[in-house]
Amino acid sequence: MTVDTILARARDGARLSPEDALTLYREGEFIRLGAAAHAARARRTDPGTVTYLVDRNINYTNVCITDCLFCAFYRPPGHPEAYVLSRGELAVKMDELRAEGGTRVLLQGGHHPDLRLSWYEDLLRWMRDRWPDIEADAFSPSEVTHFAAVEGIPVADVLRRLADAGLAGLPGGGAEILDDDVRDEISPKKLRTAGWLEAMRLAHALGLATTASMVIGFGETWEQRVRHLQRLRDLQDESIARHGRGFTAFVSWTAQLDTVPMSGLVRRKGLRPAGAQEYLRNIAVARLFLDNFDHHGASWPTQGVAIAQVALHAGCDDYGSTMMEENVVSQAGNATLCAILSEEMQIQIREAGFVPAQRDTRYNILRRFEGVPAV
Ligand code: SF4
Repeated sequence: MTVDTILARARDGARLSPEDALTLYREGEFIRLGAAAHAARARRTDPGTVTYLVDRNINYTNVCITDCLFCAFYRPPGHPEAYVLSRGELAVKMDELRAEGGTRVLLQGGHHPDLRLSWYEDLLRWMRDRWPDIEADAFSPSEVTHFAAVEGIPVADVLRRLADAGLAGLPGGGAEILDDDVRDEISPKKLRTAGWLEAMRLAHALGLATTASMVIGFGETWEQRVRHLQRLRDLQDESIARHGRGFTAFVSWTAQLDTVPMSGLVRRKGLRPAGAQEYLRNIAVARLFLDNFDHHGASWPTQGVAIAQVALHAGCDDYGSTMMEENVVSQAGNATLCAILSEEMQIQIREAGFVPAQRDTRYNILRRFEGVPAV
């Protein structure tokens, strides 16, 4: 089937096959893919509105024993730069978030070998008691699977206990490419594809808010990208059929290849960083293929503001979050802003041609900003 035929079928609401997605990846030009993806987004969400979230990303520890090749953020146990944030440090950050009108905190960290599950439960309870107005989306499938291994209990029990302690959502980090051949190369000690999907399956059963992510540019093949998308779409179908809910959104970004451990793979495969065009083509194919996801997010921290604004015309309806701070991507050498606050998000969304709206974790709109903001 040709690209034009596939895009025409997508316009009529037909579900794309894996072969269709492969053809789009191989032959689709960004302009045509982007226009079709934008039309698909307009059918599923308010076409004139782009949402964003006021939140803060807190990396509670950089201690990790998993040694992913692409990660410049972590430090091994005992390293002089290793840290675990104290309650005092966390309290300052949470108070700042509240002052900024934040509604969500994103807690993510390394795989610390010594912190027990009770440490995470206490942290969540303490946050819920002191900042009940701020939801905690925390950890990731790889983190909760690590907690389960440390504790010697099933992941399902870990998630239940964390949910009881106040966990509102499980972010989709650590997916990278959901294909074990890719994972063997870039993160051999991290959980496998089946583990990531199973943690999300359990999270959906518990009613946690979840997102699905994808990181491109590791030298993966088109087929591996399609398998990643297929696995997400299948799980989304399954969760919606079983529970009436699944992932709230899909977000993708590009790999940062300039870490020392990546250099061998970069040389061996002759890798070059995925550029703007590749990022935009990927978000467009994802919007067209993942026809059971309402929301697709643009990634300004990795792509920069200008490309993120273009992404809003290529399938994305959400501009992501203010973050206030971010350490993982910025440690990997990205020079893009590490904090964009609410007013700035509104300006950038408006510049792209949309009405900005602040949302909560589950994409409920809290406030629309129809007028030009005074700044
Ligand atoms: S990406 Fe996460 S799991 Fe991998 S080394 Fe970095 S902190 Fe550890």
